[in-house]
This record gives sequence, C-alpha cells and structure tokens, in this order.
Amino acid sequence: GEPLLTVENLKKHFPIEGGILRRAMGHVKAVDGVSFTIYEGETLGLVGESGCGKSTTGRMLLRLIEPTDGRIVFTGKEVTKLAKRELRAIRKDIQMIFQDPFASLNPRHTVERIIEEPMIVHKLGDKKERKRRVKELLEVVGLSSYHAKRYPHQFSGGQRQRIGIARALAVKPKLIVADEPVSALDVSVQSQVLNLLSDLQEQFSLTFLFIAHDLSVVHHFSDRVGVMYLGQIVELGTSDQLYDDPKHPYTQALLSAVPVPDPDAKKEKIILSGDVPSPADPPKGCVFHNRCPMVMDKCKTEKPELSALSDGRLAACHLYV
Ligand code: SF4
Ligand code: MG
Repeated sequence: GEPLLTVENLKKHFPIEGGILRRAMGHVKAVDGVSFTIYEGETLGLVGESGCGKSTTGRMLLRLIEPTDGRIVFTGKEVTKLAKRELRAIRKDIQMIFQDPFASLNPRHTVERIIEEPMIVHKLGDKKERKRRVKELLEVVGLSSYHAKRYPHQFSGGQRQRIGIARALAVKPKLIVADEPVSALDVSVQSQVLNLLSDLQEQFSLTFLFIAHDLSVVHHFSDRVGVMYLGQIVELGTSDQLYDDPKHPYTQALLSAVPVPDPDAKKEKIILSGDVPSPADPPKGCVFHNRCPMVMDKCKTEKPELSALSDGRLAACHLYV
C-alpha cells in the first residue's frame, strides 16, 4: 500500500516542575525521537511495557497530546503544522479505540447517542440517516440493533468494546489508533474482539496502529511491529521476523515472557536485571544498557542508531552494526 501516515523524529518531553517557584526541574522524555510509516491497509503494532511512550505516541497522531518536536504527515498533510481549528478533519479521519470501553463511553447516553455523536460532531447525514447508520453499525460489530436504546452499564465488557468500535467506525476513518483495545477484557473475550477487528479490517480496508503491551496479541493482529523502550523504537520489522527471530535483546526478553502453547517447547524466560530507568534521566548510550544481558563497553557511551539489518528489519543495537 501507499504510505498513509509518516512520523519523523517525534518527541514528547513533559516538563517537571518543582519547588515553590514551580521552576522547570528537567523533562520526562516520554517519547524521544520516534519514526515510522503506516501503509494503507496494514496494521502496525506498537508494543512495550507501560510507560514506554506507546500511548503518548498514539495520542500525538491526533494531537490529543501536542508533540514537543518532530513531524507527522497524514495523507500528505502535515498534522504538526495545522492550527487548532484545522484539526477537526484529522480527528474525523483518525479515530481511537480505547483500553477501557466503560470509561470511554458516557454512562448517561444511550448506545444510539454514543455511536451517533461523532456523526453529529462532523456533520454527517441528517437525523434519519444517522439512526439508520447506527443500526447498521451495531449489526456490523455483532450487536443487534434492538440494543440501540440501552445504556453502557447494560452490556458486558466485550459488548462495550464493540460499541466503542462502532463509534470509531461511524465516521469512516482512514486510520484507527487502537490503544490496548483488549487488555481490559477477559482472556476468553479478547480473541473474539481481535477476530472482529480482523474481519472489519478486511471488510472495510481499515488501517490500524495497534498498541499493546503483550507481544502475542500484537503478533496475532499486526503485519509489522515496532518495539518501544523508554520512549524509543528499538526494533521494527515484520510481525513474523520479531516473533520467530527477535534480534534486539529487549525484544528477546519481551518474547521470552510470552507463554508458549506447547509445554514441551523449550524456552527460557529471560529475566532482566534492574528496573526500567526513569524517563526523566534516561541512560547514556544505549537506553537498554543497564538491563541488557549482552551489554558491552561501548553500549554505555555510544547510542546505537536504529539501522536496517540484512533482512530489512530495523534494530538499534551495537551487536548488529
Ligand atoms: Fe544491549 Fe548493547 Fe545492544 Fe543496547 S546496544 S541492546 S546494551 S547489546
Ligand atoms: Mg497505555
């Protein structure tokens, strides 16, 4: 496919204020120089532990969080240069699905009103057309249209996420940012919702940025995957490259934590020493060096650039360049 969205050197540094003068005491480098492209019709997964900057990255694409630096180009438009009032079009074309479908649905609104709302905001259709579209969307996500007059609390977690998906689809977005869409759901429900997303992707040629902390969920759903650690992408390749043969020691550790279906398959869990350092004071050199089982001297001083390996994937690690 064609590039739909390109992100170049994206950064979000939150100021830390302290003392009675509320002076800037430094910055939390939540996202620190992230670049990637999402192609039409694909799913790019973004995976990493909580606090690695993946959600902040997703929100910056819609400028729900303002980037500190870098460029976002979406369908040829530079999102990062748009004035606030010009953001409406972007917020129609890029929709979000959130982790907690209960918190993201207004409890006082009927399902019909919830799904209709983005159509009202973006002035799509008259009342009759909108009601018809809500019914259609409910069927599309596997809920009967007789649910339209009910309230969010009358649904299970999985059904609520289906409502959130219907709402995201209502304005026919070009890109959907799904931020941990199944991590709040029971394991048994997770695969149903993932299968629904796959079906919808096929049916409506959707493009996804799929954010998750669990590499097995990302593998199931993504064509390509970027692994984030401390605000940076440390490896980016096809889903199979990363899942079958991870190269970056951090990806290897993440993958070793994924349970294997076959109990006889020998797989050693890699236990990382130490904690994730504070993003206010990231390590010099390689951001992963204080926890890396393969650490070398130069890792402590020289930052490895994200570079292409012979199979085309990108990795930021001195072992390979
Ligand atoms: Fe480990 Fe060095 Fe590679 Fe960083 S650059 S991941 S510390 S081997
Ligand atoms: Mg998050």
